[in-house]
Amino acid sequence: MSAAADAPLQADERDGDPIPLSALQHAVYCLRQAALIHLERLWEENRFTAEGHVLHISADKMGERKVRGVRRVMALSLAAKGLGIAGVADLVEFRPNADGTETPYPVEYKRGKAKLHRADEVQLCAQALCLEEMTGQAVPEGALYYAETKRRIVVPFDGELRALTHKTIDDMRTVFSTLQTPPPIFRTDRCRACSLLDLCRPKTVGKPARRWREKMLATLLSDDEANV
Ligand code: SF4
Repeated sequence: MSAAADAPLQADERDGDPIPLSALQHAVYCLRQAALIHLERLWEENRFTAEGHVLHISADKMGERKVRGVRRVMALSLAAKGLGIAGVADLVEFRPNADGTETPYPVEYKRGKAKLHRADEVQLCAQALCLEEMTGQAVPEGALYYAETKRRIVVPFDGELRALTHKTIDDMRTVFSTLQTPPPIFRTDRCRACSLLDLCRPKTVGKPARRWREKMLATLLSDDEANV
């Protein structure tokens, strides 16, 4: 299924709007993909995204319950006004401390298995940054749950991951403030699995297309000169 969803954003439409947490995940994978989805509002469903939706539909049931002393909140809305980001966490566990406080522990559900890139970790870390601003509590770690392996992978929010998350937020803010979609950079591993491959056409839009445009322009100019 493909859908060219809503109209692309206009210059002042995003003013004051927070950056969606899901955009950060896309931005780590490919900044152009994030711009095509969240700025130009293009979306192409493929098997990978469809599986992800099914997983999130089951995770997105709002609710709260207590399991072995841990408060578990599903589909929790998050925001960090200071950073200008917002979204929804699949699950946040509030783990009790001895002093009566609770330490938030975000858990994000993902299709497939753990990946080589850090897109999932950045999205989770952004959730932690929101939870820290919202609760005033440090959030030292969280977990990614992968449907294929049915296992949680603990993600420590160390300095390196936090720095990458802040950089990704800055990159995405630049895309929204300039309304510029970055040019494609073809990467076999990422482009082949990308749901936007047919819309992006990274091999066509890149160098060959530029060369073709230059050749056509040169032909037109020489025709014009010949007709003067
Ligand atoms: S096809 Fe490649 S360059 Fe284009 S949006 Fe997808 S990952 Fe990015």
